[in-house]
Amino acid sequence: MTKYIVLLGPPGAGKGTQAQMIAEKYDLVHVSSGDLFRENLKQETELGKLAQSYMKRGELVPDDVTIAMVRDRLSQPDCINGALLDGFPRTPAQAEALAKMLEEFDGAVNLVPYIFVPEEILVERLSGRWTCRANGHIYHEKFNPPAVAGICDLDGSELYQRDDDKPETVKNRIKVYQEQTAPLIAYYQEKGLLANIDGTQPIETVTSDLLHAIDKAG
Ligand code: AMP
Repeated sequence: MTKYIVLLGPPGAGKGTQAQMIAEKYDLVHVSSGDLFRENLKQETELGKLAQSYMKRGELVPDDVTIAMVRDRLSQPDCINGALLDGFPRTPAQAEALAKMLEEFDGAVNLVPYIFVPEEILVERLSGRWTCRANGHIYHEKFNPPAVAGICDLDGSELYQRDDDKPETVKNRIKVYQEQTAPLIAYYQEKGLLANIDGTQPIETVTSDLLHAIDKAG
């Protein structure tokens, strides 16, 4: 049986942090569309260059290229049993495309944990976020600091602050989320797939709530 879980929530809700924990526990592949774009950027591919022009403004990369990139990732052999999707879908068109492509892979979205966090907290979370250069591991200078400042606990690589975590860009990312992504809450609620998770709790509590929701969904 395949298992496809979509993590939904605003930027800064903790999707990436939680995805890293859950993917490990359930042996699910963590597919983050943001990480895929950043990887393309690092490799200086055409897709990376195109994506950067949107990412730096906090806008969404167009649906067609985003969908093609995620489809390609989900077709890889390591995703044969499913995946934990983080940052995709972000628009109703992407959600429809995902449903269609999973049908082709003999699967479907099984659960959509929605991690909710009020807007005032998001800016503080994102502006204190540090990301690991090698593997995208996520820290926060106050809420989840690394043992040694500037160094990833897990792989020793350098930590950096994402360009799009600057306050001006963060505000636009939240606006874009509200306009284009928030409608997916009702979309998945209607399908009976939504599980509400309080993202203001400590990281470990959010993880255990998520694991509980996943176990319950079977
Ligand atoms: P994230 O790492 O999820 O915060 O994504 C960083 C940026 O990558 C976003 O602000 C968008 O510019 C782009 N991006 C990531 N996922 C998507 C998506 N599903 N659709 C469109 N753009 C995306």
